[in-house]
Parts: sequence; structure tokens; C-alpha cells
Amino acid sequence: MSSVLQIYNSLARQKEIFDPVNPPYVGLYVCGPTVYNDVHLGNVRTFISFDMVYRYLKYLGYKVRYVRNITDAGHLTNERGEGVNRIESQSQLEKLEPMEIVQKYTVGFHDVCRLFNLHRPTIEPTATGHIIEQIEMAKQLINNGYAYESNGSVYFDVNAYNSHNHNYGKLSGRNTEELIAGYRDLDGQDEKRNAIDFALWKKASPEHIMRWPSPWGEGFPGWHLECSVMSTKYLGTTFDIHGGGMDLKFPHHECEIAQNIGATGTEPVKYWMHTNMLNFNGQKMSKSLGNSILPLELITGNHPLLDKAYSPMTVRLLFLQSHYSSELDITLKGLQDAEKGLRRLLNAAQYLDGLCLSGETNTTTDDELNQLADKCKEVMDDDFNTAKLIATLYEMASRINIFHNDNKKCPVSEPTFTRFRDIFKAFLFEVLGIVNENEATSTDTLDKVMNLVIDIRKTARENKDWPTSDKIRDALKDAKIILKDNKDGTSYEVE
Ligand code: AMP
Ligand code: ZN
Repeated sequence: MSSVLQIYNSLARQKEIFDPVNPPYVGLYVCGPTVYNDVHLGNVRTFISFDMVYRYLKYLGYKVRYVRNITDAGHLTNERGEGVNRIESQSQLEKLEPMEIVQKYTVGFHDVCRLFNLHRPTIEPTATGHIIEQIEMAKQLINNGYAYESNGSVYFDVNAYNSHNHNYGKLSGRNTEELIAGYRDLDGQDEKRNAIDFALWKKASPEHIMRWPSPWGEGFPGWHLECSVMSTKYLGTTFDIHGGGMDLKFPHHECEIAQNIGATGTEPVKYWMHTNMLNFNGQKMSKSLGNSILPLELITGNHPLLDKAYSPMTVRLLFLQSHYSSELDITLKGLQDAEKGLRRLLNAAQYLDGLCLSGETNTTTDDELNQLADKCKEVMDDDFNTAKLIATLYEMASRINIFHNDNKKCPVSEPTFTRFRDIFKAFLFEVLGIVNENEATSTDTLDKVMNLVIDIRKTARENKDWPTSDKIRDALKDAKIILKDNKDGTSYEVE
């Protein structure tokens, strides 16, 4: 019985999900976080950008299957698949099991997603949940002549790939010869046929904790393999959109293409989308450069850049005011302007509800409002231009303010008014994902934020990290929020 059920399920699945010619959905795959520490605002920028893409596709009426993975198998620090395993080194630092690190930072990431009003992906697969599939793809690449085993590890053979008329480097515009020259003098290349070859599977050293059995001995997968496997498992061998930050274009996405073509013979992705970096003082925001701002620092204002706390929605608007493919420097002035802009847009949304028709129609105003409403879709259809969308929403807000100040009367036809109002609200709330924090703050959002803060403080206390725990209590006190520790946990009160 169960095997009949299994066959039935697998047939139904194939029929419904894996029709490669005409899938019943838009497939969107986004590289998710490596869960070894807290995400910073740079990471948040990338995830907000793809949240907006998902929201706009849904707004257009598409059914979207949105897959965003969790990288939890612990890839190595450098681009050639060498160095230390980030999750394991963090686990040594925090004296936790690697999977405790994974759990802790996955939960933290989900809290941050809620804070910035990010939709949940429809599937959130983990690398450790797909080890078998990764081993299968590595085997297939060996069988197809694109990979080789060496001393318990498996490497992708870039020269073999290129000699079959493929072009490693085509996405990022890199040249294989130049890449090889760049790698030549680096250590640790002995196992590889060529310095440019990258790891599909790495043999685990005796002290390595995160390890799995494989046909080549105990080891762990290379970083690039998980995304090749999980994207095509859930979206088909060719899918619509693959996203990630610009810094992933090479080598991560370049390697993904090579793996997929080598294993299936098929170009995996129709459209690549890369978000540009959030910078701080002109440099990419990154934990390792020590210039990151964490969501908690933002909402408490406890960071040298900040003059006070800023709301997640201010940051959401600030980020979306730039096109996703442009670099963006986070500055105090930018935050202050976005805060004012957010208030303007939310006020306009509120005024809209109080407006009524004046009874006479001014055709020029009627045309102008219709043109503004049309423009929202036009600019978004042009490569998701949220910068122009927000500029249009500001123009719409100016009109709304004029009507509001003119006895709340609108000199336009009823269909124009209804359309203008619905489009303004849909693009602000549904597409840009802004929420009115003022409406929700006192109970809902503040509760969510405080649960996150209390959770982070609890972890700090468990780790005897007293400076962090004190910093949180003091910053909250400055913001007139008092923490109360009691036997059932910690609660808070606003003074
Ligand atoms: P990671 O956990 O480092 O793999 O990063 C998760 C996502 O955030 C990836 O898509 C990165 O490209 C992206 N990312 C990392 N740093 C930044 C930054 N400063 N600005 C924008 N996106 C970033
Ligand atoms: Zn990826």
C-alpha cells in the first residue's frame, strides 16, 4: 500500500511540478543566509529586494514558487572552498554544537525577516537536508566527465567543461586563463588537476564535526553544490529567476551554472538578478570588515553612526528608494530623509480614506491622476524600478495633500478616484511591503521587536556575555523601556 502511494505521489508530483516546458508558476530562487552569525543590514537589503520582486510578481497575478535556502552545512571561508568552516569556528567561539549555531542564527534570521515585513518563501530548504541529492549530483558530474575524485574529495574539472564548448566565466565575464594565473601561486592546490577547479565534496579532516558518509569517504559538500541541487529539485532543470547579492556572481553563481550544465546538459536559469551592495563609508557592509550595522543596533539606536533609533520601515523605504542594482551608502541623512518620507506616504494613505468626490470633474486633474496611477506599473515593469515608483508615490502624495487641504474634496470622476486610491495603497503596502508601524506599534510590532531583543539578551546572558546584556538593558532604558526579570522569564514595560 505504501509503495503504491509513493508511486502515485511521485507521479502526481512530476506531472504537477516538473513540467519543464510550462510550469504552473514563476520559479524564483534566492541564495539565503549562511547561518553562523547575525545578519546585518547589507544582507537585509538583498532580502528586501527579492521580497519586493516576489510581491510584485504576485501583484501581477503570477503564481510564484519562491525558494530561499538556508546554508547550514558550513562552507569554507575562501572562494576556492578552502580555509575554515564558518559554522564550526563560530561553534568553538560560542562553545555550542555546530547545529546549535545553525538553529540559533536561523531563528534570529527569521525574527529579522518578520521585523522588516519579509514574506516567508514558499520553500526554505536547508543544505543539510539535501546531502543525498548533492552526492548524487557529484556522482553524475563524475559520470559525465566533468568531475574527478582526488584523495577523498571531488572537484569540478573546469578545463574538461570548457573543452566541451562550455564557457566557465560567462556570467561574470571572467577569463579562465587569467583566473588560473591568479590562483597559480596559492597553497593547497596539489589535489586538483587545475588551480581553478572547485570542490563539490571535501574530505573531512579528523577534527571536522559536520560530516556525512559518501562514496568517497566521510566529508561535506562544497558550497556551490547545494544551490544547484535545491533550485532544480524544487523549480525544475530550467527555472525563471535566480537571485542573490552581486558578491555571489563569482564564483558562486558561475559554479552553479557549470554544475547544472555539467549534470543535466541544461542552462538552469532564464534571468539572473544581482542586488548591489549596501555600503558604509564607501565600503561594502560586512561583518569581517567590522563596518556592519545589525537590526538590533538600528532599532535601539545603539551604533556610532546613529543619532537615535530608526524603524525597520524607515530602512525598508530607504533601501527601496534606490534601484536594486545600484550601490547604496547608508548615511544618517539618508535615514532622516527616509523617516520623513515614510511619514508623508503613510499620512497620504490615511488622508485618502477621508477624501470624497467634489461632484464636478476637472478633466485635466482626472487625466493627471490616471497618468500617475499608470506610471506605477510602467516603472515597475522596467526592471522593478522601485526608485521611480517611490518618486511617483511622492507625486501622488502631493496631490492627496492638496485635496486634503481643499476641504477633502476631489474634483475627479468616481472610477478615477477609486483606481488612484487603490493603486496608491496597493503599491505602497502590497508591492513595497510597507506597514503602518504607528497603527501596529503599540501592540503588535513593539511586541515582536521586544521578543527579539529579549531573546538576544537571554542568549547573551546564557553565554555570560555581560557587556552585551548590559548594553541592551541600558539602551532600552534610554528609550524608556524597562526590562523586568522574573522567574517566568523577562517582560518589559514602557515608561
Ligand atoms: P551570506 O550569508 O554572506 O551568504 O549573505 C547573504 C546574502 O546577503 C547574499 O545574497 C549576499 O550577497 C548578501 N549580502 C552580503 N553583504 C551584503 C551587502 N553589504 N549589501 C547587500 N547584500 C549583501
Ligand atoms: Zn546560493
